[in-house]
Amino acid sequence: MSEGKSNTLLPVKNRLESFWLSERDPVLQNARTTPELPRNADVVIVGSGLTGAMIAYHLYNDAAKVGKRINVVMLEADEVCSGATARNGGHCKPIPFIGYRAEAAKHGKKVANDLLTFEAAALKQYADLVQKEDINCDMHVTRAFDVCFKQSDAASAKQDYQARKAAFPRDVAGQDIRTIDDPKELELLTGVKGGCYGASYPAGHLWPYKLATSLIHIAIGKGLNLQTHTPVLSMKKSETHSGQWEVATPRGSITASQIIVASNAYTSGFLPEFKDLIFPVRGTACSITPAPSHSYGAHPGPVKYTYGFRHGPGEVDYMIPRQGRGRVPGLGDRSIILGGAKGCFLGELSQWYDNKQDNEYMPGAKEYFEGFMKKYFVGWNGNEHGNVDKVWSGILGYSADLLPYVGEVPDKPGVFVCAGFTGHGMPRIPGCTAAISSLVTSRIKNGFITSTAQKAFEDALPQPYWLTQERYTSKVNLIKAAMGQGDNTKGALQNSDEAVLAGRVARAKL
Ligand SMILES: Cc1cc2nc3c(=O)[nH]c(=O)nc-3n(C[C@H](O)[C@H](O)[C@H](O)COP(=O)(O)OP(=O)(O)OC[C@H]3O[C@@H](n4cnc5c(N)ncnc54)[C@H](O)[C@@H]3O)c2cc1C
Repeated sequence: MSEGKSNTLLPVKNRLESFWLSERDPVLQNARTTPELPRNADVVIVGSGLTGAMIAYHLYNDAAKVGKRINVVMLEADEVCSGATARNGGHCKPIPFIGYRAEAAKHGKKVANDLLTFEAAALKQYADLVQKEDINCDMHVTRAFDVCFKQSDAASAKQDYQARKAAFPRDVAGQDIRTIDDPKELELLTGVKGGCYGASYPAGHLWPYKLATSLIHIAIGKGLNLQTHTPVLSMKKSETHSGQWEVATPRGSITASQIIVASNAYTSGFLPEFKDLIFPVRGTACSITPAPSHSYGAHPGPVKYTYGFRHGPGEVDYMIPRQGRGRVPGLGDRSIILGGAKGCFLGELSQWYDNKQDNEYMPGAKEYFEGFMKKYFVGWNGNEHGNVDKVWSGILGYSADLLPYVGEVPDKPGVFVCAGFTGHGMPRIPGCTAAISSLVTSRIKNGFITSTAQKAFEDALPQPYWLTQERYTSKVNLIKAAMGQGDNTKGALQNSDEAVLAGRVARAKL
């Protein structure tokens, strides 16, 4: 069940078809493991995107390690995995230094470094997971190139790089970052015209929908009950089962001791406390067939790297070149996925901010994407539509301070949130979901979260991600200001916040 233009924050009907949804999972798409909604569970997971899927996967593994059999139900408002995970850029790009100085000024060097090393770890976590479970999701480990087009952005990026390198030389060396100052060399290496500074580092890309649905299949094999088309409408403390939560859906209620909220942009739809914390923000992406000039055997040949095109603060396009289909690189589909186009719509607030209409196109995005490859790629000889195939929209969950909220909700024992990825979920979700799962497993095993489990959680996650009382009750909203749309904060910005939000938004996709 989903709805059209109403005030309820649920996924809308008739959403645009993304490239990734062109191969839906016929078994899971509309699955209900049991025809009736179960009346109770140990854990209810709300949402079946990559976050929900990874949490389900980790939970069954963690529970088995402590010898617990668990009963987990996953509730999904629409088709399985039909939100941002099915509409994104497929790009796992752990950004290794942009924003470092600002975070260091606000939180200290160690925390600033933690934020970056946390993202970097995700690449190996995906690769290990895909290999261990033999998941067919077209995972490809490669290098990303960030290309700056403005001297001011280049200067700022260089300073961030130097500052982190001076403070944490081993971490920077471990991330294998290479920088290029010479525009000619940059063009030769990347095939991109007009850049003035570039940095490359390891990154990856994959088919996010296939990864998520594969993990859900594995969890179902261990006992997960998936209920699609079952939106959570509200939740409250159970009046009949002490210490439990009752989750209401149009198909009846389900009671559980632990609820894990993995509904990203839509979280405040049933948890109103998140109304000032997580906002639906609309973004767009497209798929492109390589032009003859960028196909195998041609010159310059296939696009090799993944990219971040940095046009200005907050204005970034992102791109991956798919490397074929299945387990044999080079064979089959080689679509290029390109997202961003922010310059077309950022000035018109209602087009993106607090907007959940991914059944509609973003104005100007199609034309922008159609002109993109010819404008930026040397020798591109595509057709008059820039070889663009599909264009779609998607709803990102932007958090008020531009970082995810991860942890137990301060005034709701047993309710956990893992959401607000602010357009940069891929490098964050593996670590965040593993941390949440171990916290919940401690609660399942002991009836409470042990101090050891709490410490392990805090050690595993960068401190600015923790869902603290302070963040939970904060009224500061940095989103519009971060997008260059005036100071719309409800609270006063500290001086350093301006720089912090510039760095955080440089990592976000929209
Ligand atoms: C256009 C676009 C491009 C992007 N590009 C990138 C990229 O290249 N790299 C990157 O790192 N990130 C990117 N992102 C962000 C990334 O997709 C997200 O961070 C990530 O997918 C979030 O996963 P999730 O599972 O938390 O949320 P989602 O995938 O949105 O899943 C949430 C699920 O919860 C369900 N739900 C919502 N409300 C309810 C309810 N009341 N009851 C039950 N279920 C509910 C939804 O239907 C949905 O299936 C992009 C996002 C978009 C939209």
